[in-house]
Amino acid sequence: MMELERGDSGLRSTASVQSSLVMYPIYTYGSEEQRKKYLPKLASGEWMGCFGLTEPDHGSNPNGMISNIKDKGDHFLLNGAKMWISNAPFADIAVVWAKDEAGVIRGMIVERGMPGFTTPETHGKWSLRASATGELVFDNVKVPKENILPNVKGLKGPLGCLNSARYGISWGVIGAALDCYDSALRYSQERVQFGKPIGGFQLTQKKLAEMITEITKAQLLTWRLGVLKSENRATPAQISMAKRNNVNMALQIAREARQIHGGMGITGEFPIMRHMMNLESVITYEGTHDIHLLITGLDVTGFNAFE
Ligand SMILES: Cc1cc2nc3c(=O)[nH]c(=O)nc-3n(C[C@H](O)[C@H](O)[C@H](O)COP(=O)(O)OP(=O)(O)OC[C@H]3O[C@@H](n4cnc5c(N)ncnc54)[C@H](O)[C@@H]3O)c2cc1C
Repeated sequence: MMELERGDSGLRSTASVQSSLVMYPIYTYGSEEQRKKYLPKLASGEWMGCFGLTEPDHGSNPNGMISNIKDKGDHFLLNGAKMWISNAPFADIAVVWAKDEAGVIRGMIVERGMPGFTTPETHGKWSLRASATGELVFDNVKVPKENILPNVKGLKGPLGCLNSARYGISWGVIGAALDCYDSALRYSQERVQFGKPIGGFQLTQKKLAEMITEITKAQLLTWRLGVLKSENRATPAQISMAKRNNVNMALQIAREARQIHGGMGITGEFPIMRHMMNLESVITYEGTHDIHLLITGLDVTGFNAFE
């Protein structure tokens, strides 16, 4: 994820969605038949997937979702809409979260081509332009009962997927920070002002030294989180802390790197503005910067400040 996002956050987003948000729920919550039908084609990239949780009126508060399914015997009838869905315009399948008649959140696999299912693309984005984003619209979509993920009920289903994706993001954004840092370092060694490379001035060195210090700290934090995760000991609050810290770190480094490039930093000759604009999405999706702070706040105080 770190090396993919060194290229572009949009590429890493596509990979995160495919692995953490589509393959993970089918593997973890799916039936054996669902695993066999979908996972090999998703793993090879023959099929692409997307993950529908956010709705037009429910972003930070997904529990309030209004997308719903009604039991019609051999199938469910799905109605509602999802917004801001990465990969939606080209995805072959969508892992969708909707409430049943008892108000319980259920996960299901919706396939492109099912009548009543459309995926209009979202245009005019100035961020994550390499990642297609769209809506998922469900107008009386007949979802066969065998497409329901049988092994999870409630918000813990989508939140389990987000834990995995947020861990991946924590690594990913370090890649964006590294690309900004590398570009700034090279530029500082080549750009001459007042008769010497700007990298020779103490103020430039302070920026670069602090950048690589923050990158190293973020790598250690995320590496330790990975060790805890492999031992099944990483808590959602620890993952929130890493996601929040690392995205903010990458954004600050992009801004400092832009300063080191002077005027050239605002051009497309260098990757800085592209990373900076991308990171404005990353700091909002998968739980905003402030929502992750509230998760840490709840974790340390025991008081819920969300509502
Ligand atoms: C490019 C992009 C791709 C995305 N991809 C996907 C995807 O693939 N699948 C998917 O399901 N979603 C996706 N999202 C949606 C994303 O997860 C949401 O945008 C995010 O959860 C925030 O929701 P919102 O935009 O509705 O903002 P809101 O929830 O309306 O928040 C607006 C502001 O209010 C603040 N706020 C909200 N509640 C509180 C509170 N209790 N206390 C303090 N402040 C609060 C927030 O921090 C934020 O600053 C994507 C978003 C973007 C931009």
